[in-house]
Amino acid sequence: CGIVGYVGARPALDVVLAGLKRLEYRGYDSAGVAVLADGGLATARKAGKLLNLEKELAERPLSTGPTGIGHTRWATHGAPTDTNAHPHLDNAGRVAVVHNGIIENFACLRAELAERGHELSSETDTEVVAHLLAEEFSSCADLAEAMRLVCRRLEGAFTLVAVHADEPDVVVGARRNSPLVVGVGDGEAFLASDVAAFIAHTRSAIELGQDQVVELRRGGVLVTGFDGRPADVRSYHVDWDASM
Ligand code: GLU
Repeated sequence: CGIVGYVGARPALDVVLAGLKRLEYRGYDSAGVAVLADGGLATARKAGKLLNLEKELAERPLSTGPTGIGHTRWATHGAPTDTNAHPHLDNAGRVAVVHNGIIENFACLRAELAERGHELSSETDTEVVAHLLAEEFSSCADLAEAMRLVCRRLEGAFTLVAVHADEPDVVVGARRNSPLVVGVGDGEAFLASDVAAFIAHTRSAIELGQDQVVELRRGGVLVTGFDGRPADVRSYHVDWDASM
């Protein structure tokens, strides 16, 4: 139900958790984070309130680099359990994805993946995306390109945000019929389902258009269509007071 992504210079875990708190008003049944550190991905996921996730992180602290993503889930496919909470990972644990919305053709994609030897561990429609991204990334080594290729195969409404351990300074987002906003800061960038998640850090925003993919790096953002063509970017200044 809520999505946050961050790449910059600060510990991503802190920025992502603070952003998720700003989105709590939207309602959710579970929460999770994935951050890049020490050449790999570290994740924590918990059913229930963000407080449960914070307790888990207090008991089992994650070392965090400056790239990460987070999610609050409103379950549509699969019960609100720890295992169904996002982020979802591929079998090698190198790619993590969070998702708002519904992937309508997930059953078909799941069957295809199972035939190719992938083992899916949740009941969500989301998990197929992590596995598909891992497959595409293994041939193009470019997460934004992998996301474009995967999105062209998805049906339904979705906001997707992903990170890959082999491209640790990049966060990629995509949207179709579901909101996703980019925040452009000084040497850092944010992605969220709602500007409230990053308004404390920057008021310079870009609203992602329909069927677009964004690649976030510390130095800037690049927006393309699912077809790979550069997209017109709609930048704006957030001037409302988000003191909620
Ligand atoms: N359909 C996904 C799930 O059930 C995402 C739900 C959401 O938008 O939070 O896990």
